[in-house]
Amino acid sequence: MVDFRLSSEQEMLQQTAREFAEKEIRPVASHHDRTGEYPLELARKAWELGLVGTHIPEEYGGSGLGYLDAALVAEELGWGCTGVWTALTVNNLAATPLLVAGSEEQKRRFLGPMKEEFWPISYAVTEPSAGSDVRGIQTVARRVGGDYVLQGEKMWITNAGKARWFFVLAYTDVEKGYKGMSGFIVPSDLDGVEVGKKEETMGQRASDTRGVRFEEVRVPKENLVGSEGEGWSIVMETFDRSRPDIGAAAVGLARAAMEYARDYAGERVAFGRPIYQHQGVGFMIADMAKDIDAARLLVWQAAWRKDQGMRNTLQAAYSKCFATDVAMRVAMDAVQIFGGYGFSKEYPVEKLMRDAKVMQIYEGTNQIQRMIMVRELFQRR
Ligand SMILES: Cc1cc2nc3c(=O)[nH]c(=O)nc-3n(C[C@H](O)[C@H](O)[C@H](O)COP(=O)(O)OP(=O)(O)OC[C@H]3O[C@@H](n4cnc5c(N)ncnc54)[C@H](O)[C@@H]3O)c2cc1C
Repeated sequence: MVDFRLSSEQEMLQQTAREFAEKEIRPVASHHDRTGEYPLELARKAWELGLVGTHIPEEYGGSGLGYLDAALVAEELGWGCTGVWTALTVNNLAATPLLVAGSEEQKRRFLGPMKEEFWPISYAVTEPSAGSDVRGIQTVARRVGGDYVLQGEKMWITNAGKARWFFVLAYTDVEKGYKGMSGFIVPSDLDGVEVGKKEETMGQRASDTRGVRFEEVRVPKENLVGSEGEGWSIVMETFDRSRPDIGAAAVGLARAAMEYARDYAGERVAFGRPIYQHQGVGFMIADMAKDIDAARLLVWQAAWRKDQGMRNTLQAAYSKCFATDVAMRVAMDAVQIFGGYGFSKEYPVEKLMRDAKVMQIYEGTNQIQRMIMVRELFQRR
């Protein structure tokens, strides 16, 4: 039985997120894009409404939504501004390893305080010389006495400048390959944690992305997430949970671009008629709307499978890859439809095009998503 109608609770949730995006995010999105200022006030307001930490259970400071419900929120916030959305959503990403493999005590200690107030946390996997090839990371955690000593460098870490703690992937036993990887919670105020300068990025400039160095950082053994050697599987499971949200936010961005393009094409006149009546333009808008709907259905499918406790690795890759490719294409076409005005910062669509690009890159590039699809299609038939 398939039913595409949302329940009244889901419609209310969607409405809350839509109003927040319209009244709170949109009016300040270009300010954050221009200045690169981290949207802390917005994050606090979103947290109060239950729009942050959507994957985190309520007892640990989140809103405890299902994955499909969380995707509804992500689409609306992404419609508002994906730069702001990325800054907010990293809390889900960073908390998920604890939800996957953390002990009760760890969840209470590291997530529990978020019941009282919002603060950012970070997920640190990528390194200067290893992004797609996660097995190529060089950060190591040596056992010293009862603790671990962490040495290494991470790159492109979102929220790094504000994070209370980092989830860090490191080798505890290089000889064992990916089975020798482990995950740690590393508070940002430990000696030896050095956060770099904010990267100047093309788009999604509201989010704070930096390199982080771990110089002989002594991490208590209580901060090991799960057991030694579990890091790789924790990270992969985390991506299965987070990728549908990336797809959802990309659908939101694409929807925004399509709406701007549709309105403009209805008003702008060339050769005596609104430009949408020229087939070359009208067909572009028809394709936008069609692809956005297809992307949303893939996102809902991937999220729904997670809600049902089913494996969703293939569907999460479909949804992230397809929806972010759609967002990039739709945003580029929206710029085209605006003509010269599309190239101007006075109009909204050039920002959407800049913001869309990174969605094809982070949380596994779309080449890596296709590699996952090939692996799933050939090895798991
Ligand atoms: C704004 C931003 C925020 C980010 N936030 C985070 C974060 O919070 N935490 C975190 O850990 N990381 C984060 N990242 C890192 C991001 O996940 C990586 O940039 C991404 O995984 C790609 O890694 P890379 O940059 O090292 O590129 P590389 O891995 O060097 O890839 C370069 C190119 O080669 C392609 N390629 C590589 N291998 C293959 C292959 N086998 N087949 C086909 N093509 C291939 C890639 O698709 C890409 O096009 C962020 C990145 C950005 C830009």
